[in-house]
Amino acid sequence: MPSERSADLDDDPRSRIAFVVLEQLCWHMFCCDVILDAFSDVLGDVIGDADPNAIELAECANELRHDLQATYRAATEKRLGFAALSPAENATLTIERAADAGVQSVSNRADAPRCDAPDCSGSALDLGDGSWSGGCLTHVSLTDRDRHQMFNISGDHAKERADFLRYQLNRSTAVALVNWWHDMGGPQHVLEEAIRSETDFP
Ligand SMILES: [Zn+2]
Repeated sequence: MPSERSADLDDDPRSRIAFVVLEQLCWHMFCCDVILDAFSDVLGDVIGDADPNAIELAECANELRHDLQATYRAATEKRLGFAALSPAENATLTIERAADAGVQSVSNRADAPRCDAPDCSGSALDLGDGSWSGGCLTHVSLTDRDRHQMFNISGDHAKERADFLRYQLNRSTAVALVNWWHDMGGPQHVLEEAIRSETDFP
């Protein structure tokens, strides 16, 4: 069913249909991309064996997904005055946010200040709480060096956790979609019904 947002987008029936279809296309490519990615290990062998060039399918799906999302944003911006995310792109962000929650403790500042020691060109160490040590690895106090090492260790683990969580969330999403499709029996019955209704002459 079309979402309320797409229904509210425009009163013009043609335009409304276009947004409903565009929104669905975003979902289709979201599904293709997530499934191709999550099942790349098992698909890789089969697809690669069948056609070495077909291995680029995943890249094509990913590209088309992003192109469609960008088109949806541009189209809503023209109609509404602001770029709205398609529900499919929102789903992607939900997965990303859940995974990124694992790396929030990692500091992400760009340039470390110079070491306080005279004539030392070393850089101060990140202490992980928004502060820097006064000295570089050579001129730092033992306490600050320990804090820096603890921060590095927890940061590495947080990054690993986030990567693993992202993989797990994408994989769970793909498995759920494949199972859902299987339970629905695919679109075959819809096609048959559509053909029958067009050819079922009295
Ligand atoms: Zn130094």
